[in-house]
Amino acid sequence: MRVRIAPCPTGDGAHIGLARTALFNWLFARRHGGAFVLRVDDTDRQRNVDEALAPILDGFRWLGMDWDEGPEVGGDHGPYFQSERGEHYAAAVDALLAAGAAYRDYSTPEELAEERQAAQAEGERFIYSLRWQAGTDDDAARFEAEGRRGVVRLEMPREGSCRFTDHVRGEVEFEWAREQDHVIQRADGSVLYNLASVVDDHLMEISHVIRAEEHLSNTPRQIFVFEALGYPLPEFAHLPAVAEPGSKTKLSKRKLDKYLKNPDFSKLYEHGLAIAEAIGLETTPETFNPVVVDFYREVGYLPDALVNYLLLLGWSLDDKTEILDRETMFEHFSLERVGKASASFDPLKLLSFQEHYMRRLSEDETVAMVAPYLVAAGLVEEGAAPETRVRAIVRAAGDRLVVAGDILEYAEFFVDDAALAYDEAAFDKRLRQPEEAAGLLAAYRERLAATEPWTVASLEASLRDFVEERGLKLGAVIHALRVAVTGKSVGFGMFEILEILGREACLARIDRALARV
Ligand code: GLU
Repeated sequence: MRVRIAPCPTGDGAHIGLARTALFNWLFARRHGGAFVLRVDDTDRQRNVDEALAPILDGFRWLGMDWDEGPEVGGDHGPYFQSERGEHYAAAVDALLAAGAAYRDYSTPEELAEERQAAQAEGERFIYSLRWQAGTDDDAARFEAEGRRGVVRLEMPREGSCRFTDHVRGEVEFEWAREQDHVIQRADGSVLYNLASVVDDHLMEISHVIRAEEHLSNTPRQIFVFEALGYPLPEFAHLPAVAEPGSKTKLSKRKLDKYLKNPDFSKLYEHGLAIAEAIGLETTPETFNPVVVDFYREVGYLPDALVNYLLLLGWSLDDKTEILDRETMFEHFSLERVGKASASFDPLKLLSFQEHYMRRLSEDETVAMVAPYLVAAGLVEEGAAPETRVRAIVRAAGDRLVVAGDILEYAEFFVDDAALAYDEAAFDKRLRQPEEAAGLLAAYRERLAATEPWTVASLEASLRDFVEERGLKLGAVIHALRVAVTGKSVGFGMFEILEILGREACLARIDRALARV
């Protein structure tokens, strides 16, 4: 079994749909002990292939989808870049011409458009008149002398139909009459996808072509090429499209504005955006977009969560078990379980998978995962993350850390006491407006200075005693205290916060807040 993923290096990174298709190929290969080939479809000559390819490879690697052959790893069916396979394509074009399955055509786009319009005016199907077809070299020379430039077209059957069995779609039939004589080689000698893909799939000995549904309609013309060249046919499986949240339209990187009107999508995006901004990432829709895998890597999702989520975009187990580890995926993945219906991207489901996988991490793993975000946000120096403090926060935050970047919600634990930023509304409400707030906080500061030992239990006891002595409730002090030491009015347990910060920092922060009042 040999399968492939064949991305075009468009510069868009690893789109969710591409990652899903790659995942199904990878799982199929791992399930059957086959090879997962990565081929770069760069026939549309483009300047910075390497630059455009890097984010795709990074995305695949981060998800753990290791390819057996392809860029960086090599293999004995290379080269794996279509831009380096020109001689194979040229030979195939010659063979198709020799077999009479293709012809040179010297029509101009305008001439074809005219013929098409004429057919439409008559209410007929457009069939090319072949007026500028060069049957012989002499014809070609004559057309060229007129300044025309030729392309090579497939000479497709006009009657009957193409039938094949697709592992997902079942029996498929396309009438040949619906096909045009597709161009396979441009005037400049470059070849098009339908030719290159077939030649590569054959020479790379691909046994199963598993790809997105949008290519189903390309399959008849590719089958025509396979057969004309005398190549055996691979098996085909066309995967349902990954669709927008709540619709059947294909998910697109270019429609971020539209998706942000969906509250679930917006929640996922805003959550990531806050982290991205805190670590200074560029956040244009081009560079920071939940339709692309990079988004998740950058803000600290777990690859296992994303892989598990992607698996369910078109695949399910009979008993609908949703949480599956990789071993289970390898064991059960099969094309027969791929559904036909398009699968909508569901942001909340992805978030819930992330929550699930995050909770399964050990404390050590979580600490290791979140620490780089503190460095990236400039809160601690590289290699100097205060391990005990990070650990204490991880413990206190518990399930509130959904992605690694969420550690930045606790940034106040890592800033200098003198640099703590305040939520001004909270500061007014808790420290300035209640007349007695500052006085009480000042009095409590003295109690705090003398509290021993500095632990959650004794800190709690000391505050309770303090308020009881005055016939007050905890709230009379705790809200002001929270804003004074954290700058904001939300966060986890007050006594945990005090313990984590330590006596010196707490007193310094209270003094600064009081001076500010
Ligand atoms: N480069 C094509 C794409 O990205 C590959 C299609 C195929 O798998 O045949 O859509």
